[in-house]
Amino acid sequence: MARKYFVETFGCQMNFHDSERVAGLLEHDGYEPAASVQDADLVVVNTCSVRERAVDKLYSRLGEIKEATAARETPPIIAVTGCVAQQEGDALFQLCTPVDVIVGTQALKQLPQLVDRTIAERRPQLDVTPYDDVAFPLGVVRHADAVRARVTIIEGCNEFCAFCVVPYTRGHERMRPVADILNEVRLAAASGHREVQLLGQIVNHYQAPDEPCDFAGLLERVAAVPGIARVRFASPHPRHVTPRLIDAIRDIPQVCKHLHLPVQSGSDAVLKAMRRRYTRGEYIDLIDRARTEVPGLAVSTDMIVGFPGESAADFDLTLDLVRRVRFHAMYSFKYSPRPNTLAIKRMADDVPEGEKTRRILALQALQAEIQTEWNRAAVGTTVDVLVEGPSKRRAWELTGRTSGYTVVNFAGPDGWIGDLVPVRITGAEPHSLRGEACRPVEAAAAKR
Ligand code: SF4
Repeated sequence: MARKYFVETFGCQMNFHDSERVAGLLEHDGYEPAASVQDADLVVVNTCSVRERAVDKLYSRLGEIKEATAARETPPIIAVTGCVAQQEGDALFQLCTPVDVIVGTQALKQLPQLVDRTIAERRPQLDVTPYDDVAFPLGVVRHADAVRARVTIIEGCNEFCAFCVVPYTRGHERMRPVADILNEVRLAAASGHREVQLLGQIVNHYQAPDEPCDFAGLLERVAAVPGIARVRFASPHPRHVTPRLIDAIRDIPQVCKHLHLPVQSGSDAVLKAMRRRYTRGEYIDLIDRARTEVPGLAVSTDMIVGFPGESAADFDLTLDLVRRVRFHAMYSFKYSPRPNTLAIKRMADDVPEGEKTRRILALQALQAEIQTEWNRAAVGTTVDVLVEGPSKRRAWELTGRTSGYTVVNFAGPDGWIGDLVPVRITGAEPHSLRGEACRPVEAAAAKR
């Protein structure tokens, strides 16, 4: 009987995609997916250390898994992968809940062999070697998303922003060969995925390692793969947005008219302390240029409040930038010190917690106002929605996204999942739009 695996994921899209790779590795090795930890022979906990208390969260989750499987004669093998595995290494063997296998971010491909060795040798195994090989020729298993396929094009990061743990947990920047990327995109298209999301810590820094192809060139080649209706990417860095990239967003029909461009702060002093290496003025100019070139471009961002040394005046500059740029969406976070980073080594976490909370609430309230205005302005327009599945809130409705990444809910049959459907927007909610399909229900699926 085939062994069964279960993967739990904490963290970002990159981690979510790593879990899809774990599933691909294990299924290639003969495993089958389990419905829950209770009936898994192998439980993989794929961890993230970007936010606070990652080890505590892992600790408590391992305790829950142990409790859930306590009645079994043979407990599952427990493997910890991801950033916490890389960061903590063999210290994780000291946790009170036994861990059998620890695999670092750059050693993921070793997982099946390490599990076999754990069973054969009856002792825990660890591999946190920083392997440089970024090719991933095996299939990726995308159980959770039938429409959008995430495809990693760059691993690691060389920027060393003062607050960020990624260069320490995922290593230096490594580019994946074009042929390897296109192979994965073709496999995704063959399994019915209509949208590809290219992933990298600085996705727009892509330069093929083996041929002259920059990020704009790669967008063009991915968009040309038959069956792919949309291409997105996350996350670019403002320093590496080139005129060629803006032209690609404007000119390639499949490339979404959406730029998620993390700014992190609206104050030059804070940006400098963060080592972001652009100014507020440069960021605003870039967005203005992009919006002029690409009419209707949706812009979203990431923001950190309460970074060391951030004064009330610095925070006001952040609010001012938000009013000026009017983002379509924002992910905002309170600063928390992360292991190994420049900020934890050299800067005092000197903004009191209560003040960080006040600032993030003020920022989110402003963003909510702006977002509501954008959504109201969309009422009466007709937009193409790539249908992702049934709506979570109303089972009889479908949900999908616009090119600009706004959620749209509307009535329609399940047969439209994976289709690009024109939808007339009839209502605005704070985080989504409602609409009516401009297509008869009996219309045959038009896949392109
Ligand atoms: S660019 Fe900065 S924030 Fe982004 S992954 Fe690299 S170090 Fe972290």
